[in-house]
Amino acid sequence: MAKTPGTLWVVATPIGNLEDLSPRAQRILGEVALVICEDTRHSGRLLAAFGIRQRLASLHEHNEARVAPGLVERLAAGESMALVSDAGTPLLSDPGYRLVRAAAEAGVTVSPVPGPSALLAALSVAGLATDRFAFEGFLPAKSGARRARLQALAEESRTLVFFEAGNRVGALLQDAVECLGAGREGVLARELTKLHEQVYRGRLAQLVELAGSDPDVSRGEMVVLVAGRADAQAGDGDRALLQQLLPALLEELPPSRAVKLAARLSGVPRREVYELALSLGASGVQ
Ligand code: SAM
Repeated sequence: MAKTPGTLWVVATPIGNLEDLSPRAQRILGEVALVICEDTRHSGRLLAAFGIRQRLASLHEHNEARVAPGLVERLAAGESMALVSDAGTPLLSDPGYRLVRAAAEAGVTVSPVPGPSALLAALSVAGLATDRFAFEGFLPAKSGARRARLQALAEESRTLVFFEAGNRVGALLQDAVECLGAGREGVLARELTKLHEQVYRGRLAQLVELAGSDPDVSRGEMVVLVAGRADAQAGDGDRALLQQLLPALLEELPPSRAVKLAARLSGVPRREVYELALSLGASGVQ
């Protein structure tokens, strides 16, 4: 008779505060046959803090392709295992994708033990739109490639979320100002759940200045969030477009219809469009 496969538990671990390891995560980490982690010393210390003694196996970006098949074989044969990363939720800019995929393909149950995540922790306190967001992970370290990526995101209307190391945050913000505009709203969520947790909110230009003037801002771990394009311009509208549209519409339509349509298409408030129409000599506008 074929053996019942084990379960691969994907377990989130603290991003800075040990109290964030859930009771369920603690139980499962203690029960499984093996804990798969990035760095056995790092995760060994975490488990020791909870009095958990476990067998550990290391899985990282350089050995994942090689070790995943053997782990999947053992899972398929009935052993249950937990996958953790150094901090937060595995697979999110962390190893595990190949293992999870191969385990699922082999018919192993892959089950989450949700918990800390730098991405969601940052989004939850940023105060930017969260109904739609684009997680971009780490941008390229080289400025040219980083700018190219930011340029490609310039029209994105969802909130943008980036991971970054503190010492590179100034360069990222500088490039973001150039590619996305100085007036965009941004948030730096730094050292979340740790002693020196700080959340800075402001326009990108202000954040660049802050990062340049206060060395503390670029220390530690950081999530950078930038408002999407539409949000950045909400209530502000596209005045350049209005300048082009309105004279043409006034030539073709009755003034009140031209104003209404120009306001809708440009996003500029109707009162402002109305005043511009008057300055262009339109009469009978309501
Ligand atoms: N998988 C992890 C997670 O779910 O949180 C993220 C791993 S990624 C390799 C590490 C990046 O996450 C850091 O460079 C930083 O951008 C972000 N990060 C991790 N811990 C953080 C914290 N306490 N505060 C702010 N950002 C953090």
